[in-house]
Formats: sequence, structure tokens, C-alpha cells
Amino acid sequence: MSSTSEFIYNVSQLLFQFVIDEFMTVVKPIVIKTKKNVVSCEGQEGEASHPKVFLKVAGNACCPYCGKVFEKNAD
Ligand SMILES: [Zn+2]
Repeated sequence: MSSTSEFIYNVSQLLFQFVIDEFMTVVKPIVIKTKKNVVSCEGQEGEASHPKVFLKVAGNACCPYCGKVFEKNAD
């Protein structure tokens, strides 16, 4: 392997990792830790919100509107 193709290989690996990282950042849900059994969600602050919904947290719950995840904290 010449140094040039090795260099191109390394760059493409880095680029691939960069794309994966960006993608993971986009799809990563917002996780809220809570001790409550029931939480309410109205969407993100400063963004288009949705009707207030109450979610029962059994282990974890996911808002059907905005995809926010609520995780029960052991107390
Ligand atoms: Zn929500």
C-alpha cells in the first residue's frame, strides 16, 4: 500500500466516522430523568410545542408527539 492510498483510506475512515457521529446526534432522543410515576410533556421549550400529554413512567416512557424519553430514576 502506497502512502497516498493509505492517506486516502484514513481520510475516508474519518469522514465515515464523522457522518455516523452527526447522524447519531440528530437521532439521539432527549432523555429526562424523573422520580415521578406520571410526567407531563408539552414539547421542547422555544420550539413548536404540542398539546400537553401525561405519560405513565414504568421504567421509561416516550412522548408520542416529540419523542422525548422519560426515564424513571431509582430512589
Ligand atoms: Zn412531548
